Amino acid sequence: MLKGYLHSVESMGTVDGPGIRYILFTQGCLLRCLYCHNPDTWQVHAPSREVTVDEMVNEVIPYKPYFDASGGGVTVSGGEPLLQMPFLEVFFKELKANDIHTCLDTSAGCVNDTPAFNRHFDALQKHTDLILLDIKHIDNEKHIKLTGKPNTHILKFARKLSDMKQPVWIRHVLVPGISDDKADLIKLGEFINSLDNVEKFEILPYHQLGVHKWKNLGIPYQLDGVEAPDEEAVKTAYRYVNFKGKIPITL
Ligand code: SF4
Repeated sequence: MLKGYLHSVESMGTVDGPGIRYILFTQGCLLRCLYCHNPDTWQVHAPSREVTVDEMVNEVIPYKPYFDASGGGVTVSGGEPLLQMPFLEVFFKELKANDIHTCLDTSAGCVNDTPAFNRHFDALQKHTDLILLDIKHIDNEKHIKLTGKPNTHILKFARKLSDMKQPVWIRHVLVPGISDDKADLIKLGEFINSLDNVEKFEILPYHQLGVHKWKNLGIPYQLDGVEAPDEEAVKTAYRYVNFKGKIPITL
């Protein structure tokens, strides 16, 4: 039987997609972002909550009135949800059968060009209303330093989503001294504005809310001393990116 492996759930999320959302945080991620606030989701085979599609659909359905009233739905985040595509294909298909909006929140770190990946992704995409795609860094070398992996396959995936006309919101975590360089942000904006499917661009200001988890796991936290960007820095970054998509940024 198909199983999903979850780190946790949040029943009334408001920041990962439109409206009020039921959010599933999946277990397992291939990136190692220096600012990750969920390092306890990294290990693919760590003990986690095992769920079937029926169990999850039954858990989510009672929240449908909140989704309907707010324009919300279900978001699967991580960890990295694309590591669990066979489960998600069936889960999202069932949600759509119940007229529930579906959203994937991915960093695309595990994306590859194998026939198996493409087959599963194409099947999942048919039942996916919205993808929140993180672009951690537009510069490949800096992306490797920040996440442990290159960004080439992630940018290629962004282009593929554009070709597929898949609605996407792009998100970028702004870390002072790491992902706030003017030239990089301009380049990021040029890339995003070259895509045809991006409805919204969001900057997520860096924060330190997950640092205690690194300490509990015994993993050295390398961003000690890095402060959250202030409001002015966030506004400046939005200006550099200069997003020209459907949902305008209000500064
Ligand atoms: S992609 Fe997300 S879950 Fe994975 S390491 Fe980066 S921030 Fe953490």
